[in-house]
Amino acid sequence: MVSKIALEEHFLSPGLVEDWLPTVTGVPQAKADQLLQQLMDFGDRRLEAMDKAGIERAILSISGPGVQAERDTAAAIRKAQAANDFLALEIRERPDRYSGLAHLALQDANAAADELERCVRDLKFHGAMINGHTNGQYLDDRALDPFWERVEELGALVYLHPADPVVPAPVLDGHRALRRATWEWGFETGSHALRLVFGGVFDRFPKAKLVLGHMGETLPYLLWRFDSRAELYGVKLAKPPSQYIKENIWVTISGMYSVDPLYCAITALGPERVMFAADYPFESSEEAAAFMDSTPLDEELRADIARNNAEKLLGLT
Ligand code: ZN
Repeated sequence: MVSKIALEEHFLSPGLVEDWLPTVTGVPQAKADQLLQQLMDFGDRRLEAMDKAGIERAILSISGPGVQAERDTAAAIRKAQAANDFLALEIRERPDRYSGLAHLALQDANAAADELERCVRDLKFHGAMINGHTNGQYLDDRALDPFWERVEELGALVYLHPADPVVPAPVLDGHRALRRATWEWGFETGSHALRLVFGGVFDRFPKAKLVLGHMGETLPYLLWRFDSRAELYGVKLAKPPSQYIKENIWVTISGMYSVDPLYCAITALGPERVMFAADYPFESSEEAAAFMDSTPLDEELRADIARNNAEKLLGLT
């Protein structure tokens, strides 16, 4: 079994349970209860799942939407700080197995930047996980430039995680099974990442590092088309869109344990841009690990995707 670092592993702190509960509406009660227990456990149960999957280190992040759905900005700032302090204490118990990504209240760009700095400098987190839009505001909004400025300054990474759209797209009406993880989240999150590219965020902050789950939310498959249409429509960027996707974006295999998109991501973005994630507890860590361990790959590349690329990106060496 190849040794792994897993980048999209979730937890909940006591103060954010209420914000999370709407995400399991419609999920059978027994399953929702089980997920909640798993999210709040940092002990034997989580460590056993990691051991069985060969995960030496889990990079932990709040299960969304967290404070990003909070309407009261002061409350959002306070709750995010509490969640980060809670995680820091858990990491202190097992620093050999756990690392963290900050939870931020992007309702206030300067407060989010300051909290990111506190989390990176004092709590030794690696960056932040952002759960999609914050009350309808996307990350390319110019009001968030102070946040990106600090991201760049700190060398922190930003993991953009799926969330429900502001309004469901009419094309999905009457097809509940196409909502959320089936298709809706991929479109929402891929579109959000493209707003950053086409909105010039990586021109303004060329050293910003963005991570996407799910093999890149379909972007690696579409690079040619982005470049072709950006040119046709006269998009004003310093480079073709695909260049930013190759230079500023990394992807993980979270929730996409399938060989064809893996090969596409490796070929389109480069072998150093693809990393492992199990998306615990929403996916089976064992299934993720079995895929990582058994997919036909050069052994050196397998070790890079499973572990070494993340070690390098996170500066764990
Ligand atoms: Zn996730």
